[in-house]
Amino acid sequence: MSSLSEVNFSYSHYQNTLQKYLDEKYQFIKMSDVLKNLENENIFILRHDVDKSVKKALDLAKIEHQLGIKATYFLRLHSNYYNPFGYIVQELVKQIRSFGHEIGLHTEFLDFSEILGESAISTFEKEIDVFQTIFGEKPKTYSFHRTTGATDIETLKEFSEEIFEKFGIIGSYDQRISENFKYLSDSSGIWREGCFSQHIGKYSRMQVLIHAEWWFDKNINLEESLV
Ligand SMILES: [Zn+2]
Repeated sequence: MSSLSEVNFSYSHYQNTLQKYLDEKYQFIKMSDVLKNLENENIFILRHDVDKSVKKALDLAKIEHQLGIKATYFLRLHSNYYNPFGYIVQELVKQIRSFGHEIGLHTEFLDFSEILGESAISTFEKEIDVFQTIFGEKPKTYSFHRTTGATDIETLKEFSEEIFEKFGIIGSYDQRISENFKYLSDSSGIWREGCFSQHIGKYSRMQVLIHAEWWFDKNINLEESLV
């Protein structure tokens, strides 16, 4: 059982933990380099699904940059919280990319295809085009934004195969990643298997998903996890 005192979402804890992985000689790779690293040792994919705040994502991007780490930031097109076409996000993303971080697509094509009444793959293709229009390059990788009552993992894996065949873009549910990389996530502000600070040196390949929304300059001890 992890007690509240062990749950720390402060920026300093984030920075210290990443430093410890560096001390253990982990190599941080971008998501688009994953297929080259399926069998390599001490590989770390630092992934950010930017659900609500690109501003907070930039905070983490700066911390990583100070440590010489490259991460991958997945951006939404349909968020109600930020506008990828707008001035603010454009400037924030420019700064994130200037640190050498990768950007990818945080896709919502399954939910959106239902609203639009068209095939999921057609919607995905549109998202790629829109992403390219906004950010000037096609996404090399994507991750699924999962809403409540979302599609099951098996379906997501099937779509991952189809998308890789059609577009050559790798997704977070790709079987080759799940088979070779230990996956840890702070989804909903809960580390189900304990904070990533408790796993240093345990796995030769890791994919760690961090949502910037849960992290703060000063640690806030939450009475209960937010959903
Ligand atoms: Zn998401």
